[in-house]
This record gives sequence, C-alpha cells and structure tokens, in this order.
Amino acid sequence: MYRMANYDEPLLNEIEERKARDVEIKISDKIRREKLNLPSLSERDVVKHFIHLSQMNYGVDTGIYPLGSCTMKYNPKLLEEVARSDKVEHIHPRQDETTVQGSLEIMHNLEEALCKITGMDAFSLQPIAGAHGEFTGMLIVRAYHESNGEERKEVIVPDSAHGTNPASARMAGFEVVEIPSKDGRVDIDALRSALSKNTAAFMLTNPNTLGIFEKDILEISKEVRKVGALLYYDGANLNAIMGKARPGDMGFDIVHLNLHKTFATPHGGGGPGAGPVGVKAELEKFLPVPRVVKEGETYHFDYSSRHSIGKVSNFYGNFPVLLKAYAYILMKGSDGLKEATERAVLNSNYLMSKVVGKHYTLPFGGSRMHEFVVSAKNLKERGIRALDVAKRLLDYGLHPPTIYFPLIVEEAMMIEPTESESMDALDKYAEIMNIIAEEDAELVRNAPSNAPIGRVDEALAARNPVLKWGDF
Ligand SMILES: *Cc1c(COP(=O)(O)O)cnc(C)c1O
Repeated sequence: MYRMANYDEPLLNEIEERKARDVEIKISDKIRREKLNLPSLSERDVVKHFIHLSQMNYGVDTGIYPLGSCTMKYNPKLLEEVARSDKVEHIHPRQDETTVQGSLEIMHNLEEALCKITGMDAFSLQPIAGAHGEFTGMLIVRAYHESNGEERKEVIVPDSAHGTNPASARMAGFEVVEIPSKDGRVDIDALRSALSKNTAAFMLTNPNTLGIFEKDILEISKEVRKVGALLYYDGANLNAIMGKARPGDMGFDIVHLNLHKTFATPHGGGGPGAGPVGVKAELEKFLPVPRVVKEGETYHFDYSSRHSIGKVSNFYGNFPVLLKAYAYILMKGSDGLKEATERAVLNSNYLMSKVVGKHYTLPFGGSRMHEFVVSAKNLKERGIRALDVAKRLLDYGLHPPTIYFPLIVEEAMMIEPTESESMDALDKYAEIMNIIAEEDAELVRNAPSNAPIGRVDEALAARNPVLKWGDF
C-alpha cells in the first residue's frame, strides 16, 4: 500500500542553522528599508525541504485523482515542454503584432478548432477560468437583450448546477431562479413554469453534474427559445461528449469550456486556467475585444466591434494554457479526442459498476457519462459518513472524490476517474472503497491516521484561514 511520506519538516524560517549563519545580505542601506528576515540556507537544505514537502503531498502524478467535476484530465508532459519553449516564454503582450504572428496564428487556429468541437461560430479566448467564462457569457446575454430593447432580469439554473453558475449570473446583475430536478434531470414542467418574458437565459450542464445526459435537450432548447431567452452551456468538462456530440447542435447559444480540465493543463489552488467562450453567429458582435482576425496571410487584433462587452481580462487571455490546449488538440487529432471521450465514459461506468452495491447506492437509474455520484447514506447506520470514507481513502494513499456535491444527493460522493486511469487502478479504487465500508467505524471516523496531517477542522480552516507564518 502506498503511504505518503511523513517527515517532521520545519519551515525554512525555523531551521536552526539560520541563527548560526545569519548572513549579511548585500543590499545597500540606501534602498533597504528594514532588516530582511529571510532564512539563509544552503541550496542543499532548501532542495531537501521542498522535496520532503512534495513527498508529503499527493498529486496527479502520484496516483488516481478522481475528483468529480473539477477533475484534471490527461496532462501530457510534452505540453509542458511546448509551453516552456523560448519562443513562448520570451514574448511580451506589448510587442508589435508583426513580431508575434505565430502566436496570433495559434490563437486564431485554436478558436477555429474550438468552434468545430463545439459547433459554435466564434470564440473568445480571453476569460481565464470557467467561472470567468460564465461571467463573460452572462454579460453577452445582457448585451443581447439590451440590444433588442429588453431588460430581462432572470437566469434559470437547475438545482444540480455547479455553484459558479448562479454566482456568475448574480455577478452579472441577474436574479437567479433555481428549478428542481426530476429523476436527476431537468424537470421540463418546472422549467416551463419558470420560463417567461423575463427570462434572460437558462444555464445548463450536459451531461449534468450527476453525470446524466439531458436526453430531452432538444425539447428544452425549444422551450427556452419560445420565450426569447438564450441557452447557456457549461462545458467545463467536455470529455463526456467531445468528438461525439456538440452543444451547438443541441441548440445552445453560448458555451464556455475549461481548457484546464478537458484540454490538458494541470490546475490547482485557483490556476492557471482558461475558460474560452463560444457563441452562435448572431452573438459574435458582443464577444470581448480584441478579436484575432486574419486578413490575407497576416493576423491582427481587432478592437472595432461597437457592440462588444469590452475587455474581460488584461491583454489576450492566459496564453500558455491556450498553447497547451492547441498542442493537445493537434496531438490527439479528431479521432484521439473522440477516443478520450469514449474511454472517460467507459472508465466511469466500469468504476461505477464496481462501487455501487449495498454500501454505496446509485440515486436515479441508468448509465452515466464521464462521472457518477453515489450516496453513502447506507453507511450512516454504522455511524460512517461520506466525509469519513473520503478521509480514510487518504490512509490508503488514494485521493478522495468530491463529497457533498451536488446537494440533491444525500451523503454524495462524486467520482470521475477520467480517461487516463488503467483498469487496475479502477479495480483497486473500488476495492478499497468497499473495504472501508466494512472497516471498524471508529477507525474510519478518526481517519486519516497514516497521513502526515490528521483530521482537520474544515469549517474552522475555511472561516479562519491562517495563511502566513509568524510576523511576515
Ligand atoms: C470547474 C467547473 C466550473 C468552474 O470552473 P473554474 O475554472 O473553477 O472557475 C464550472 N462548472 C463546472 C461544471 C465545473 O466542473
């Protein structure tokens, strides 16, 4: 069994030697405002310190990382090399356009590729996160209705939506109307009664966060269109349908994608990301400026759109992330993207078949797409909750799934194995989840006991985070 390393590792500032060798830092008194309280350590000590920390951690390269929804999919190492090339690292956004034609061409080609993959007509690469893409999309919704002389106030979201959906709609000035699901899908009657001339948009994830495909999507889009509202697609996790089905063909008007989930950029702690937004032709004029345009054989930035919602980011987006996504698309090709989807869905259904049983139950029947959500409510009689199972997985050296989301499933555990895990890894994960369900309840409730840090008070950590050391 894999165990995380467990060093008694002091902070660099605490390492004893510092006092013995308080080096003189050679900065002139004229520019140094105060004595710098920096540790002075040898290279060896510093390297050892950070390697120890990394060994006490768990990452995508350590083992399976099946967080549902916000999962990092496949992150080929080759793409790190591509993004680190001199040609990319040494360019500056204020350089003259004629000197960065290659980068503009990459942006232009990536926009075209994303249009093909999603069935949209135009893309902006500017937003730098999924939530940022949603916010951009909501500003486009507002601009569209205003251009029709309408002031529509409401955005509808299902109760299974990712939390960023209502937050983005709210930030763009809309009122959020939540509708309940029925059997894990959009309740069309509930949608129909929520829709009105005051509806600006309906935001939907398909497959939704339960991993269930909204099979009535064409009817949903018809209903939304009937009242003159727009249909917004949260495409954060496109590996459920990429190469197989396109939001543009399902009737969506606006989509955002998370390049940092589906298209090969590792993310964590809030970045780095890219949440490009794609629209149908009639909404193109509202996209953020500048647009990358091609005239003859040259590319340039175009700021001319009078209807644009303006800029949503400094400069042109998160270029290294865009580059990785473009390289990933070229590397996989259309067959490769389709295969990634097929494997993601197969892996998810395979793992589900092994996890679901007397301990973990599947709310709402049927197969799933790239992820699935089980309920650990049966374990409650033994005094074990989803949180305890998640913590105990750490003792086995496995990363836990997302828990308690979506909110409509009691004791939810949301698992997305991704396309890149082997059958062996999936078998092992299911086996350990089932072993934990039968372990001594006390042991599970007190987990983790083999990890470098024991059970933490998560509510306290969220409400009162202490993120600095000493007086720094
Ligand atoms: C991750 C995710 C988002 C938000 O993306 P961020 O880049 O974290 O802002 C939105 N919707 C869904 C379904 C997601 O999984």
